[in-house]
Amino acid sequence: MTLPTADELQRRASDLLATWRVLDTSIVVAWNGRLSTTAGRAFVRKGRVELNPRLLARAPEQVLTVLTHETAHVATFRLFGANVPAHGRHWRALMRHVGHEPAVTHRIPVRGLRRSRRSFHYLRFCEACGDRVIHTARRFGRCHGCSARDSFLFLRAPATAQGLAALQRLTPAEVRAAFG
Ligand SMILES: [Zn+2]
Ligand SMILES: [Zn+2]
Repeated sequence: MTLPTADELQRRASDLLATWRVLDTSIVVAWNGRLSTTAGRAFVRKGRVELNPRLLARAPEQVLTVLTHETAHVATFRLFGANVPAHGRHWRALMRHVGHEPAVTHRIPVRGLRRSRRSFHYLRFCEACGDRVIHTARRFGRCHGCSARDSFLFLRAPATAQGLAALQRLTPAEVRAAFG
């Protein structure tokens, strides 16, 4: 899985705002591993965009489309205020201006992405340096071992003592084999 870093996306979003002649080009872009089947969301007042790494890992070519979609919501708010429709003509014009079809829903398959009520432990394995951490959620960010951001493999097991032991026992070869 090679997704751009949040920093790269943030610069891109800021450039988009400048292209749309928004005076305030400050924006925060973050990956949010807790998003379920939504590709991204925008908090227009805060100037914050969140993208779904589990969903977009299935369609990395869609990342910029989703980023543009959500950033256009922030731009619409800054340019036209809160009283224009979310996906109305203002927003659609901004999307077209930068060469994107103003589509409202994504077509990335969401099978298996809905959050289960069971809880899990996640082994995060860094392919770059072999660092391993077990968490109760998929945590992105920098590897503690080598600072890479995008070399993680995640394996999960039920949040039980047996599940935890199974994750701890896995060898690097077994982790890699699980990903073919
Ligand atoms: Zn939208
Ligand atoms: Zn590492």
